[in-house]
Amino acid sequence: AAIYAGRARIPTHVCAGTLPGGQPANTADVDNFPGFPSGVAGGELAQRFQGQAERFGTEIVPETVTDVDLSEPPFTIRSERNAYRAQAVIVATGAAPRRLGIPGEDQFYGRGVSSCATCDGFFYQDKQVVVVGGGDAAIDESLFLTRFADKVTVVHRRDELRATKIFQEQAFANPKIDFVWDSVVEEILGEQTVTGVRTRNVQSGETSMIETDGVFVYIGMEPKSSLFIGQLELDSNGYIVSDRRQHTNVPGVFVAGDVQDPHYRQVVTAAGTGAIAAMEAERYLGKYPHH
Ligand code: NDP
Repeated sequence: AAIYAGRARIPTHVCAGTLPGGQPANTADVDNFPGFPSGVAGGELAQRFQGQAERFGTEIVPETVTDVDLSEPPFTIRSERNAYRAQAVIVATGAAPRRLGIPGEDQFYGRGVSSCATCDGFFYQDKQVVVVGGGDAAIDESLFLTRFADKVTVVHRRDELRATKIFQEQAFANPKIDFVWDSVVEEILGEQTVTGVRTRNVQSGETSMIETDGVFVYIGMEPKSSLFIGQLELDSNGYIVSDRRQHTNVPGVFVAGDVQDPHYRQVVTAAGTGAIAAMEAERYLGKYPHH
């Protein structure tokens, strides 16, 4: 969004938070962003995005927004240090995979624990993986992981999947996918990398060990939209509601990336919606020049 806004010569200010770069910055390798035929480290890609936005005059500050007032333009955006007034706002606050909050999860994140099979599945060629969850994401990604892994073990806390029937049929028919029902993962084990998980059957209380090279956690995403509760329309899962041109329900406020996307969650789709949001902001500012 900032690249397009800056290049349209709109004075553009990015409050990027204290850890700029978003989810790509936490991804080891991005293998599917166009233009990088050999892949690119997520951190490097994020830095390249930043450099490109700055080349067009965007000012990027490492400030976390603490409060917004979107009741009427000019809108007010406050961080701990500053208050900004803006004629148009693009919300691109992203989403975070929900975490299990169990021992070993933080320690092995990016070294055997992942929430992105599209990003990391490739590293599990002929290996064994555990997938935690029973929704569409867990089953869709389990099916994807069978392209690489020898065996995919889905650990689900109930005895019935939440995922749509077609995914269930495909997963039950796939000889590489096993299910461990009524069970939760209580600990991720390993030394340099993951070697296994400890599970507990929630019916019997019995604990077991499963040997594995990787753990993919798909227990839902959390859009980072809490700042906008009561100011923008959110859906029942907390995603900001957008039309196909990235408009929110407030004229002059646009939205891009994972905070409005429960489905695709890819760097390329986020970047695409960012470009649209900025072009729509430019159009909006041209239509209301008195702003
Ligand atoms: P969901 O909320 O649909 O599913 C989350 C799953 O994780 C549920 O099975 C839930 O169990 C389980 N879970 C939640 N918390 C815990 C926990 N603490 N410990 C263990 N298990 C837990 O999230 P998804 O990310 O799967 O999907 C989000 C949205 O995106 C949905 O609307 C989905 O349809 C959509 N989507 C669509 C896809 C597609 O069509 N290709 C692919 C991916 C997502 P329980 O069932 O017991 O609640």
